[in-house]
Amino acid sequence: MMKLRSFGSWILLFLSGAACSGSLSRNGHASDITQDTVVNETTGRNPFKNVRFFLNPDYVEEVESTARNFPDQATSIRKVEAQPTAVWLDTIAEVSKLPRFLDEAKKQQVANGQPTLSVFVLCDLPNRDCAANASAGELAVEANGEARYRSEFIDPIAAQFEAHADQPIVAIVEPDSLANMATNMHLPKCAASAAAYRNSIVYALKRLALPNVSVYLDAAHAGWLGWDQNRIKIANVFKRVLQEAGGIDMIRGFATNVSNYTHLRNRDGAALALTNPCPNEITYVKMLAETLNMYGLPGKGFIIDTSRNGRGGIRHQWGNWCNVKNAGLGERPRAEPMPGIDAYFWIKPPGESDGISDPSQPRFDEMCAIPDAAPGAPQAGKWFESYFLDLIRNANPPL
Ligand code: BGC
Repeated sequence: MMKLRSFGSWILLFLSGAACSGSLSRNGHASDITQDTVVNETTGRNPFKNVRFFLNPDYVEEVESTARNFPDQATSIRKVEAQPTAVWLDTIAEVSKLPRFLDEAKKQQVANGQPTLSVFVLCDLPNRDCAANASAGELAVEANGEARYRSEFIDPIAAQFEAHADQPIVAIVEPDSLANMATNMHLPKCAASAAAYRNSIVYALKRLALPNVSVYLDAAHAGWLGWDQNRIKIANVFKRVLQEAGGIDMIRGFATNVSNYTHLRNRDGAALALTNPCPNEITYVKMLAETLNMYGLPGKGFIIDTSRNGRGGIRHQWGNWCNVKNAGLGERPRAEPMPGIDAYFWIKPPGESDGISDPSQPRFDEMCAIPDAAPGAPQAGKWFESYFLDLIRNANPPL
């Protein structure tokens, strides 16, 4: 669902000449910093280290259905079943399944004799998806959305996390929300959602402050917040939210590239957006960490979603986010692929749609019917078999 609606800011940045200055880099690197050096000095414990990862049986079943439909490709398809993916809690109804997921993770933990980490995405803010339609949510600010988010969404999630105190859990909080506060406040729906987003996230952070839970806030991706001015804006938004929630230690770090396609290391961004100093995701994480450091948020860890960013050069505009054609599976989930990065992880379960391509259907977003978007897509979150097969075919590294 990772959206990009920041063209206004791009133009502003272009006019103000804030280009690839690297002015925020302590190390004097001007642009593309992708070597496997220290990205960021993190403090505290990386929750992805020394654990096994929960394998979601519902995702395995989605993949398995395709393996059954394509017996000649079943061997490579089934390799995906061994990869962990995040579980998305994106409706109140979905929260009722949480005990089952956590019990299953406990079973895997007992069977393996090793702590087993489950990763959840919490994604049900009132007025969700204020800058796009495909993932518009069920709660509305004007219909008591904030109170319902607290009592029907966050409270039961926190209670379940507490009830499974002997299991490590990562919670990724609200993709696309605070980034919209940084760059999309010119859109009336985003402006009208700002206070509710902030209050709701502050509440979530307070409730999720549990010994077995590590929280990451969503920090968009290079093509959205890479510009110096946008990184400064998001740093200020994060700072305000964290101050209200009780301080910077309320979170372990930030998740980037969630559901997006930005490549880890290539220079796509240099061609797609000349003024962006971050041509790829590793450079973005590095520069964001430096900006956060300068704005009083040092020592945070990062997770990068590598579910679908294996191949570069696949889109005509960086802002194209919906079921982008020719995408491939990216790096396999793993802890600390380089210092400062807590994990590469498949946060978006590869094969699930970003949004429906049929204009006559509810939640249709025009970005899901542009030439860069694969046709025939079902609603966001639903299994998109032909797209999944393409992701496998284009996997890099190969499966
Ligand atoms: C959708 C969710 C879905 C998630 C993972 C999001 O874009 O809005 O419904 O669970 O992707 O596929």
